[in-house]
Amino acid sequence: MSKLNRRDFIATGAALWATALIPVVVRAEPSAPILQETDGIAIALGYKKDATAVDIAKYPKRAGAAGASQFCSNCRLYSAKTDGLGGCSAIPNKLVAGAGWCNAWIPTA
Ligand code: SF4
Repeated sequence: MSKLNRRDFIATGAALWATALIPVVVRAEPSAPILQETDGIAIALGYKKDATAVDIAKYPKRAGAAGASQFCSNCRLYSAKTDGLGGCSAIPNKLVAGAGWCNAWIPTA
């Protein structure tokens, strides 16, 4: 294998790995069950259906004025459905509350 081919092989492998790391967007159906705060993934992510109930000592990301403006409804991973609920690409096949929050919150682009 020449140096160029080896370099191409490594570049292709890196590109394939990068593609594999892109999260798959899984949308929840409108009839999907609602995420409960007691669900394992909700506990792991610090999810609360009422964002104002988040323990900011435990999750300082939601502290202060900037933190207080964070809700599922303005998270990049949220896709609104109906009745204040929506899908979340971090939590497949469950609906989350638009007024909720979890530690995976990221701003919209
Ligand atoms: S990732 Fe975003 S939409 Fe999903 S539960 Fe967390 S804050 Fe809500």
